[in-house]
Amino acid sequence: MEQRIVILGAGESGIGAAMLAQKQGFAVFVSDFGVIAPKYKEALEGLNIPFEEEQHTAELILNATEVIKSPGIPEKAAIIKELKALGIPVISEIEFAKRYTTAKTICITGSNGKTTTTMLTYEILKNAGLNVGLAGNIGHSFAAQVATANFDWYVLEISSFMLDDMYDFKADIAVLLNITPDHLDRYDYKMENYAASKMRIAQNQTASDYFIYCADDQETLTALNNTSIDAVQYPFSIYKEVENGGYLANNDLHININPLNPFTMSITELALQGKHNIYNSMASGIVAKVLDIRNLTIRESMRDMKNIEHRLENVAKINGVEYINDSKATNVNSTWYALESMSTKVVLILGGVDKGNDYTMLKDLMKDKVKAIVCLGKNNKLIHKAFENDVDIIVNTFSMEEAVKVSYHLAKKGDTVLLSPACASFDLFKNYEDRGNQFKIAVKEL
Ligand code: ADP
Repeated sequence: MEQRIVILGAGESGIGAAMLAQKQGFAVFVSDFGVIAPKYKEALEGLNIPFEEEQHTAELILNATEVIKSPGIPEKAAIIKELKALGIPVISEIEFAKRYTTAKTICITGSNGKTTTTMLTYEILKNAGLNVGLAGNIGHSFAAQVATANFDWYVLEISSFMLDDMYDFKADIAVLLNITPDHLDRYDYKMENYAASKMRIAQNQTASDYFIYCADDQETLTALNNTSIDAVQYPFSIYKEVENGGYLANNDLHININPLNPFTMSITELALQGKHNIYNSMASGIVAKVLDIRNLTIRESMRDMKNIEHRLENVAKINGVEYINDSKATNVNSTWYALESMSTKVVLILGGVDKGNDYTMLKDLMKDKVKAIVCLGKNNKLIHKAFENDVDIIVNTFSMEEAVKVSYHLAKKGDTVLLSPACASFDLFKNYEDRGNQFKIAVKEL
C-alpha cells in the first residue's frame, strides 16, 4: 500500500517536511487548522501537494501511515488525540528529516539562549570552513535543507516541543543550556515533565557522542541525576573550575577539554556581552573544541559575532538615554539576565501574555536597577502585585507607541529604556519579532 504522510501545520517546518516527503516518493497531504501564509500556499501549489486550511478533515488525516506535526500544535489538540488513539505515529519534522541525511548534527536546546548559541556555533563552524547548515527553530527548515542542500554538518536549534516528537533521532553533539520554567502550560504545570522533555536531547546518544551542559543549573543537575547518559559529558560553569569542560577564572573563559591545546579568551573581548552570553559562548566554544577547530578561529568568531536582532539589541541613544530591544525575553529568567547585564538605571517595559510566571527572582534586581516599570499587556495585574513594594512607578500602557513615549518621559540622561517583557507577545502583537520591530519604529519616531 502507498505510504501516506500527513503534515499538520503548514508553516516553515511543515512545508519543508512536505517537500522532503514528496521527494522521498510518499503520498503527501498538508492540513492546517488556521490560515496558511501566502508564500507557503504558493510553495504547495507549485509542488502540486494537496492541502487544506482552516480545518482538519478527519478522513484525510486518520488514514496516514505517519503524521508530521508542527511543534506549535499541542498534544491536547483533538486531532492529535484521535491519531494517538488509533496508534498512528506522530513525529516532528526534525525526526523525519534526519532519516534522509547522513550529515552530523549539533543540537542545541535549553529554556533560554538557544538561538544565540546556535548562531554563534554556526558562525564558528562556518568560519572554520566546514560545510555547515543552520536549521531547526531558525531560518529555513531542516527538512527543506535535507531535500535541497548537501551539508556535512547541521547546527540545529531544538525546542522542547520538537523534542516531544523525537524518538529515534540522535544528536552527535547535544547542548543543554539550562532548564528554567517556561511553557509550563504545555507540561501540565509540572517542572519535571518539562525537564524530562529537555533531557530527550541526549536520548539514543552513545559513548562516541557528546553531551554539553551547564553545571550551574540546578534543574539540569537534578534531571541528570534521573537520567543515564552514555555520551561523553562536558560541563561548563562560571562559578567553579571544571576538570573537563568550560569555566571562568579571573574574567578569562577557559575550555580545557583538550589539555594539550586549551582555549582561553578574556570575556571583555566577547562580542556578545552579559553573563548569559558567557554561558552561550562557553557552550559554543566546547562544541568547536570537540571538532578541533583552531583557537584563533574560535576567538575571532567570538570577537566579531554580530548582535542578534531582538536579543539585547541596541536600538538608539536619544538625549543620553540608551534604548535596548530584548523582545525575545519571553520568560522571567531571560529578563533576569537582561537586567543583570545593565549598568545604569532602567525604565523597563514589561508584560504581555503571562505563562504562569513567578516574578520573585526579579525582585532584587528591580529594587537595585529599575526606576519605573511600563506595563505593556492587556492584563497587568500580576506585575503590579509582584513589584508594588519594589518599584516606585508602575504604569499601564496598551500600545508600543504609548509605552515608548511614556518611557521617554520617565527616563533621564544616563538611563536605559529596556524592552524585556518576560512574557509572550500574543495579546497585542503577532509575535516577539513584531513586538521588537514596533519598539524600534516607535523609538526612531521619538
Ligand atoms: P531562545 O532561542 O532559547 O529563546 P535566545 O538566544 O533567543 O534564546 O535569547 C532570548 C533571551 O534570553 C535573550 O534576549 C536574553 O535575555 C536571554 N538569554 C540568552 N541566553 C541566555 C542564557 N544562557 N541563560 C539565560 N538567559 C539567556
